[in-house]
Amino acid sequence: MAASDSVNLSGLMDDAKCFAMVREHRWPEGVRCPACDSGAVIRDGCDDTQPHRQRYRCKACAGRFDDLTGTVLAGHHQPLRVWVLCLYFMGLNLSNRQIASELGLDGSDVQIMTEQLRRGLVAKVPAVELTGEVEIDEVYVVAGHKGQPAAVAKRGGSDGAASWQVRRAAARWKRTSRPSSV
Ligand SMILES: [Zn+2]
Repeated sequence: MAASDSVNLSGLMDDAKCFAMVREHRWPEGVRCPACDSGAVIRDGCDDTQPHRQRYRCKACAGRFDDLTGTVLAGHHQPLRVWVLCLYFMGLNLSNRQIASELGLDGSDVQIMTEQLRRGLVAKVPAVELTGEVEIDEVYVVAGHKGQPAAVAKRGGSDGAASWQVRRAAARWKRTSRPSSV
């Protein structure tokens, strides 16, 4: 299949589905407070700049958090879909340079992202569970993604918080399409 030079892969991703995927894997049995683990959580609007990023308030400890709080995905300027695509490309064994090209990012930014995601990968890998929330298995790799001048990742943030959620997502992407135990 011939690849088009003009496809903006990131633009095809659905932010709502990306956040839904995070929620589903982070809280398969309902949202829980990351601070006190209470399930007595109520929705508290959405992020000011990311309308699909749900905010919550814990009725037990009065803590506030959102879909990405405490994950490696928080505290970065990259949209969630860029992280999801990065995971996907890592599963395809693309190099950092290739990933950077596909995502229109600096190689150094991608290196930081993949390092963080890989740090999550070394921990326990849960059983494969395919949900179909993110349907990009038909996507093929294209070149020539337009640059994103504003997308310079902010350094720092939750660097040490490579999370279970990333591990799980990464494991899923790594397995590509189906469990090996069929
Ligand atoms: Zn709480």
